[in-house]
Amino acid sequence: MSGPNYTSRRSRLVKAFKSAGVDSLLVSGVSNVRYLTGFTGDSTWLFLSKTNTILISDSRYTTQLANECREIDVDIRDARKPMAVAVAAVVKKSNGKLVGFETDHLTVAQHQTLTAKIESAELVPTSGLTERLREVKDNWELQQIREAIHLAERGIAVVRSSLRPNQTERDVRYTLEAAMRSFGATGPGFEPIVGVGPTAALPHAHAGELQVSESPILLIDWGAETHSGYRSDLTRVFFTGKITKQMKTVYETVLRAHQMAIAAIKPGAECRMVDGIARKIIADAGFEKYFGHGLGHGFGLDIHESVRMSPLSEQVFEPGMVVTVEPGIYLPGKFGVRIEDDILVTNDGHEVLSSVPREFDDAAVEFLA
Ligand code: ZN
Ligand code: ZN
Repeated sequence: MSGPNYTSRRSRLVKAFKSAGVDSLLVSGVSNVRYLTGFTGDSTWLFLSKTNTILISDSRYTTQLANECREIDVDIRDARKPMAVAVAAVVKKSNGKLVGFETDHLTVAQHQTLTAKIESAELVPTSGLTERLREVKDNWELQQIREAIHLAERGIAVVRSSLRPNQTERDVRYTLEAAMRSFGATGPGFEPIVGVGPTAALPHAHAGELQVSESPILLIDWGAETHSGYRSDLTRVFFTGKITKQMKTVYETVLRAHQMAIAAIKPGAECRMVDGIARKIIADAGFEKYFGHGLGHGFGLDIHESVRMSPLSEQVFEPGMVVTVEPGIYLPGKFGVRIEDDILVTNDGHEVLSSVPREFDDAAVEFLA
């Protein structure tokens, strides 16, 4: 399969300039720059207009830029020249008058310096222009995401088959990360969450010192990152001992919410509506206040991207979007259950991309003797 078409991505972005009220755009978000140019470094901004495509960087990246972005003009600034000064010169030369900047990827200090240095144009705030393009994945990106899921699934299989009672959350995290790297991942897609019992009740816990045998519940939220920078994001709960009736009820409620929400995903469906389906199932089972986060999110080059599924979302599904579905119930001090899968919106419905078993009977694991 051929690689990404950066030129076409940039021309689609330029088409969005008019409605955003700009004639050019300063792209400072690292993943946005990568998406639009293929450059994998940082500290490098893209200036884009109808007639100009210029990467503004420094000498650490001269060689890398020449390798990764052959067809793009590069402005390497001197170590004594601040980014804002280099940008001001590029803007002046381009004759841009309404230069958009990314409000989500520029600090207040950077904005102040740019305002002071750019005299030839007006700076116009924009939000989500590139992120909007990134919501819908092309075939090459889907290939990368499938690979990221595959790496994550191979990693968790190693954890599952090598689980021992005296392993700590940190040990499990290490085994998982090492396994994914050994299969070819550049690393985890994000810091894996490994939570035993009460740790699993914290939706964003750090792996700590609890041992697997200290509770029958083990929650793992993990993903892999490919060499191309794409990520996956999954969560499974394992039963490592005799579970209580309440644990079973919680697991089955979360699984039902997860399955019913996924079933509703198709082009034209509102993200808020899908979130509502899961939320109602959890509320009807009496756990409303124990599900505090949104149902899911887009992912790709970043682990959290547009679109978002939450009660506040205004977004509607389109073919090519890839999202997580991850309902959870968290009982503070006791345990938590979340089940998370990766879903592709297809032309006539959806495809569940991840395939780690998730049924109640699949959750029980045996310790390695
Ligand atoms: Zn996750
Ligand atoms: Zn997630």
